[in-house]
Amino acid sequence: MFDLVVVGEGGGPDETNLSSYLFKPSDKQWRDGTVGLEAGSGLGALQKLLAADDRLFNSTSASEVYSFVQCFLVTHAHLDHVNGLVLSAGSLSGPRKRVCASKHSLQDLESVFADRIWPNLASWDKEDENYKLLYSVIGARDAYEELVTDVSIRYFPISHGHNDRGDYDSAAFFIRHDPTGHEFLFFGDVEPDSLSRSPKTINVWRAAAPKIPASLNAVFLECSWPSSRSDDTLYGHLSPVHFVRELETLAAEVVKVRTAAKTSSPVRPARKKQRLAPVPLDLRNALAGLTVYVIHCKDTLDGVPDRPNQRLIIQEIKTLLEPRGLGVEIVAARQGMRVQV
Ligand SMILES: [Zn+2]
Ligand SMILES: [Zn+2]
Repeated sequence: MFDLVVVGEGGGPDETNLSSYLFKPSDKQWRDGTVGLEAGSGLGALQKLLAADDRLFNSTSASEVYSFVQCFLVTHAHLDHVNGLVLSAGSLSGPRKRVCASKHSLQDLESVFADRIWPNLASWDKEDENYKLLYSVIGARDAYEELVTDVSIRYFPISHGHNDRGDYDSAAFFIRHDPTGHEFLFFGDVEPDSLSRSPKTINVWRAAAPKIPASLNAVFLECSWPSSRSDDTLYGHLSPVHFVRELETLAAEVVKVRTAAKTSSPVRPARKKQRLAPVPLDLRNALAGLTVYVIHCKDTLDGVPDRPNQRLIIQEIKTLLEPRGLGVEIVAARQGMRVQV
C-alpha cells in the first residue's frame, strides 16, 4: 500500500497544475523513502498546497518535503512532466536524487541540462556528487527493478504519437510494494492503440489483467481531451471514447485470463476451433474492484473556475461507461488530493 499526494494532475496549459505526484509506502515516513512520480509542477505548487493544508505531509515547507525525495520517476521528457524537476534542480536539498526514466527520455532531458536552456545539474556518473541529479536508466531488462527500498517498478513503453523524427514513446509503470506484492499502475501520456501506428498499450493491459483486482486495484490513466476533440487532433492523447475503449480492452483481457483459469486443461484446442468466429465476451463487472483515476485533463483557463473541461471529461467518460457495466469506479484526480493506493 502507498500514500500518494497529487501535487498536480493537469495536462496544461496551467503551469501551476502539471503532472506531479509524491508517494511513499504507507508503512514508512515521508522522510524515509519519497518518490516523485512525474515532476511537472513542483516546489511552487506544493508550497501553495501546504499553505492550504499543512497536514498533507506534517510539514509546512515544500523544500523540506522535496528534500525527502530519493528519486524522480518520469514517463517522458515533455515539459509538463519535467518542468518542476528542471526548475528546482539547483535548489534541491537532501540526498542526491536519481532521475529514473527510459534511456531516450533521459537523453531528451540531457538536452535541457546542457548549459544552454538550463545549467548542467545532472550527470550519468554515480561518483559525481556535485551534480544534484543522477540519470538512472530503467527498462533495460524486461522485469521489475528496485526503485527505492521496498518499492519496485516495471516499465512498459507506450505510444505517445509520432513526429518528424519518428515514433515518440511515453511510459506506463507498474509500481509494486515489495513486502505485500500490492501494486498500482500509472500511465504517462497515451495515444489510443486503435489510432497508433505502433500500438503498445495492449502489452500493459495483458500484464495487468491477471492481477485485477486482488493485487492491482488502482490505475492512473490520462484523458486529455473532451469528446468534442476530433481523432486527427488528439496529438498522442486519449479522449473519452478512446479512454473507454482502452478500459474495454483491459476488461476483455481480464475475462480471458479468468476464463482460461477456469477451463485450464492439458487438452490442446483443435485447429478447427480456431477458425470459428470468436464468441463475444461478457465484460459485465469484469473490472469490479478497480478504481481508475483520471489524470492529465487539459483545461481552457477561460476564466471559469473549477476546471470545467475536467468535469466535462469525467461526465463524458461516465456516460459512455454506464451501459457497459464494467464495474469500474472512475475518480477525478484533483490537485491536493491524498489517496491510498
Ligand atoms: Zn503531458
Ligand atoms: Zn507528453
